[in-house]
Amino acid sequence: MGLIVQKYGGSSVADAEGMKRVAARIVATKKAGHQVVVVVSAMGDTTDELIDLANAVTPIPQGRELDMLLTAGERISMALLAMAINNLGFEALSFTGSQAGVITDSVHGKARIIDVTPGRIREAIDAGSIAIVAGFQGISQDTKDITTLGRGGSDTTAVALAAALDADVCEIYTDVDGVFSADPRAVPAARKLKTVTYEEMLELAAAGAKVLHLRCVEYARRFNLPIHVRSSFSPNEGTWVVENHPEGDTMEQAIISGVAHDKSEAKITIVGVPDRTGVAARIFQSIADNDINIDMIVQNVSAAATGLTDISFTLPKSEGQKATQVLQRIQGEIGFASILFDDTIGKLSLVGAGMRSHPGVTATFFAAMADAGVNIEMISTSEIRISIIVREADLERGAKAAHTAFGLDADQIEAVVYGGTGR
Ligand code: ASP
Ligand code: MG
Repeated sequence: MGLIVQKYGGSSVADAEGMKRVAARIVATKKAGHQVVVVVSAMGDTTDELIDLANAVTPIPQGRELDMLLTAGERISMALLAMAINNLGFEALSFTGSQAGVITDSVHGKARIIDVTPGRIREAIDAGSIAIVAGFQGISQDTKDITTLGRGGSDTTAVALAAALDADVCEIYTDVDGVFSADPRAVPAARKLKTVTYEEMLELAAAGAKVLHLRCVEYARRFNLPIHVRSSFSPNEGTWVVENHPEGDTMEQAIISGVAHDKSEAKITIVGVPDRTGVAARIFQSIADNDINIDMIVQNVSAAATGLTDISFTLPKSEGQKATQVLQRIQGEIGFASILFDDTIGKLSLVGAGMRSHPGVTATFFAAMADAGVNIEMISTSEIRISIIVREADLERGAKAAHTAFGLDADQIEAVVYGGTGR
């Protein structure tokens, strides 16, 4: 007998039928002799709809109230799911994040979990019940207000609970069969990965792959908790996210595990920056002071004649306006010529632990882009990732070309998208 934490995403519980299908699956796990704790997301696109509703009554909803509103989505799911399980003759009890002991800091909309004290969950499962927990929410330690963990945060709830309960595994149920070598919506020849390491998964998540919430992977790695990502629509074995690829696994030989693409970033270029000590520090300090997260940075050598250089960086599209205003405020002091904003870029990344020991990955990658007619505008690398910025219109073509160039294409279509609106 083991303790299994299962998380079901919004597309798995989109309607009453979905609730019943998921309930049957949970009951089957219970019947197999395990203790079961379930974390559930809001039904279908509920969270987006609630955000739209908030924006329809005010242009700037207050963080506290928005969190109160959004957490209602998960409460609807948890109660319905408990009812559906009860209807199958098994006892299930639902709990809000706060009741489940998910304690966070007080940053509304992107709170961090500080501690998990799942006393009531432990009591419920020890008494033979199935515990259902509302994902994506907690309670602030200082203000005692209800908080949310950021979009996709139910994954993190599940892993944090699994760690606190010392579960054997955390299963993340979604609408595809696991983690793929690329987003099957853009690269139909994507193949399912048997295993992916925490490190690769972190890089993939940071590169814009939307499979797992970044913090959930950080958490799992910290507690060395295996995650099994699989579909709630099929019985297929999914992808295991673990510390190391198993010995002799064929994926271990693959240099590249996955190709990720991301359309959520924009690029800012500061033109004609005086090439003096302290200027870059001044620019990025003011960006940081305004809580703007940046990703890639490129600075050219200055032209000898003018002593001026250009600095480009990427950031989330949604932060573009704020960053531009911040830079305008220091333009006079620093004396650069102008600011260019470009939100028609895309980021394409290759991730693979095998990169460490294989030279020539960059050359193969860039040759594939050249053959596909994709121009590279910026480059950044980590030990196991290469990311490039290209035109947004070239992004999916580039992703397909890279996937083919590294021999990742499946012989036949493996990726089935079972549900979800992709919203
Ligand atoms: N319902 C929330 C969202 O859509 C949290 C989650 O699904 O994990 O972002
Ligand atoms: Mg959702």
